[in-house]
Amino acid sequence: MEWEPEALKELEKVPEHVRSMAKMGIETLAGKKGKNIVAIEDVKEAETQFRALLGKDEKNEKITKIAVVRCDIVSETCPGVACFKAFNRRKVHFEGYGKDAEIIGFFTCGGCPGRRVFRLVDSLIKHGVDVVHLSSCMLMEGGYPKCPHIDEIKQMIIKKGVKVVEGTHH
Ligand code: SF4
Repeated sequence: MEWEPEALKELEKVPEHVRSMAKMGIETLAGKKGKNIVAIEDVKEAETQFRALLGKDEKNEKITKIAVVRCDIVSETCPGVACFKAFNRRKVHFEGYGKDAEIIGFFTCGGCPGRRVFRLVDSLIKHGVDVVHLSSCMLMEGGYPKCPHIDEIKQMIIKKGVKVVEGTHH
């Protein structure tokens, strides 16, 4: 594959340790267009594609990481389907999340007065958690009482620098 002088000059701006790889990539791109001479626009096009790829990677690094804490008592009868359904469909309290958001933890408080939350949030912070949702079962009356320790649990998570959202599927 031949190169126009202007295109070669542009290629020289690519760091030396990745230049031969970039050259191959640009030639492949030009070849796919049926060309046998690389022009400056081929180099620019490859550069744009490469930047778009980098942009995508940067975005992936910023995925929102979510955890859900729920009532230990309610967990005996609830497998958490409604919480996951709301998240998967980005409904109710998960509405604002993009499609890249992930649930990285789903845990119970460990029983009154929420004795496991402190340690589990510490562990989740090591995994980059951004936000903890207090499950709807902690906040509402059902076949069980509303959590009497909700405020302490919430403040304890906030003090660790993690955002709290009240509710999941209700
Ligand atoms: S602390 Fe609240 S959420 Fe945890 S078991 Fe007790 S009532 Fe349920």
